[in-house]
Amino acid sequence: MKFISLKGIASLLAVFFILAGCSNYGLEVEKIDPDFYILPGEGGNSGVLIGDSVILIIDTKMKQGAERFHRWVMDRAEGKRIVVVNTHIHKDHTGGNHYYENAEIVAGDYGSQFWLQNNAREDMPNRWLVDTMHLDVGGEIVTIQNIGQSHTFDDVVVYLRNRKTIFTGDLVLNGYHPYLEESVGANVDDYITAMNHLMQDYDIATVVPGHGKTGDQDLITTFRQYFLDMKSASEDIDLTDAMRKKYKSYRSLPVNKAGFDQTLSYIRSNASLRN
Ligand SMILES: [Zn+2]
Ligand SMILES: [Zn+2]
Repeated sequence: MKFISLKGIASLLAVFFILAGCSNYGLEVEKIDPDFYILPGEGGNSGVLIGDSVILIIDTKMKQGAERFHRWVMDRAEGKRIVVVNTHIHKDHTGGNHYYENAEIVAGDYGSQFWLQNNAREDMPNRWLVDTMHLDVGGEIVTIQNIGQSHTFDDVVVYLRNRKTIFTGDLVLNGYHPYLEESVGANVDDYITAMNHLMQDYDIATVVPGHGKTGDQDLITTFRQYFLDMKSASEDIDLTDAMRKKYKSYRSLPVNKAGFDQTLSYIRSNASLRN
């Protein structure tokens, strides 16, 4: 008896996708409904919402993933107006901005000088969001809010009202230690405050975190608890081992810059700055 090899199946699938005109260019794609997609990884998690005349892109990924993501988007853009939102200034969320020529590219109110100190000119947004804007995308009411300082000085969340879905950027992570960078404004107390605001201000069924799997509201309470635990651990040496155990499955991205010890020492140095 003869079996088709895995390679054979892969090339058959490739032919099928090319014929069907819907290659995913090797990207992982979660189709939530015909107009709404989540594309995890290759940098931060991204979202695509397709309306009749406008297509909304949330975070543009990095490096090769950004280039392939752009091709995937253009296959579906059909000449529509493109609006890109960056949840924050880190390059794993903004590395594909330059591919979206003529698009409106929205980010928190960092301003161009700060942007150029921390990111590339070619990826610079053309609209700085001070507070909140709304967008109608195919009947979906999208709220884009500058939530203020937490992971960076001007984190932005994107909320789809009908779908009760929120994109948090790195304000919320699922199963990852946060990358805490002083120069862009990371502040642990502000993370906690911002997450409290999310819970109060939005009716949330689905949370798309900056990194890690999509989930429900529990992602927010779990990540808030992480910071509360780490704050306690930073003040009480007996708690440190317990917390190290509790969060031992958490991953570190970028490697060597995020992790249990990095979070602890960040909290300690922040506290000593305040005292
Ligand atoms: Zn990130
Ligand atoms: Zn980040």
